[in-house]
Amino acid sequence: MSRVPNDEAVQLTNDDATECKQSAVQLGYWQDPYLFHFVRGAQRKPPEINRGYFARKRGIEILVEKFLKLTDSNCQIVNLGAGFDTLFWRLHDDGKSVTKIIDVDFPSVTARKCHVIKRNKALLDKINGGGNAAFSGATGLHAGNYHIVGVDLRQRSELITNLENCGIDFSLPTLFLAECVLVYIESPLVDEILKWISSNFDSVAFINYEQINMNDRFGEVMKQNLRLRQCSLSGVSACQNLDSQRQRFSNNDWEGSQAWDMVEVYESIPGAERQRIEKIEFLDEQELLIQLFQHYCICVGWKGAKLSQVNY
Ligand code: SAM
Repeated sequence: MSRVPNDEAVQLTNDDATECKQSAVQLGYWQDPYLFHFVRGAQRKPPEINRGYFARKRGIEILVEKFLKLTDSNCQIVNLGAGFDTLFWRLHDDGKSVTKIIDVDFPSVTARKCHVIKRNKALLDKINGGGNAAFSGATGLHAGNYHIVGVDLRQRSELITNLENCGIDFSLPTLFLAECVLVYIESPLVDEILKWISSNFDSVAFINYEQINMNDRFGEVMKQNLRLRQCSLSGVSACQNLDSQRQRFSNNDWEGSQAWDMVEVYESIPGAERQRIEKIEFLDEQELLIQLFQHYCICVGWKGAKLSQVNY
């Protein structure tokens, strides 16, 4: 099969993720007053999906908050395969003025993101203090501390050029995020990206959220669902479990790493928050939620001793 249909299917996973997040937001799992601009009419998802997304969003947020605290927000965040993630606006509203935020995705996805931003004052006003946002062509944005670049992550030299065009500073503490992204990329190419990061940044952390245990029965069903949608699963065999997730970082010259499955991540979320969201919907299929949690993980890699504290 040619690359194009697969790429389109992979790009559509962003619409799915956005809809699922909006379903949870509409029910009150968390607040995000920006997300609805990017998704038309999100259908209500089953309780275990809403709860799964809550764990994913909160699990990542806790680590991002730790990174910002450790660096005093004097740092950069590069969101690989960012899709329609609203991180920039959420941090802005929380008063966290990060030195630079760069969202990266395929040009067709960033074009849609830029189009929505252009048409919505509520989004535009927060960028560059409401000043002029410089859209670069249809697929990019360079405005104050916020950048959006359209590039295929598999094209490493283009990725590097694009990050350099955003004025990335290799000496500033930097956080790379990849939320359900690396699984779609051939593992040697992921290795190249990880190696490039570890050899070029002095102080850096990488938060990766993705599937694990894809070879058991439940995992096979998850893979089959993605195959039915013609998604390339090039990276799926690379990191089957928490050990191999960590090994990917050590193989690519990172100083350290830790990994947790989503059962552990969920349990690390403060009890009061869990109790609040557990009251939102009755969960009939507790077992299904646990199985889902066992098939996703968060792995953090770091370079620079201070950043080893980006954990639960
Ligand atoms: N990270 C976002 C989130 O969690 O809401 C989006 C997740 S979505 C499941 C996967 C995203 O990765 C899509 O937006 C897709 O276009 C992007 N992606 C996958 N492979 C990519 C590649 N080779 N280059 C750029 N973006 C890629």
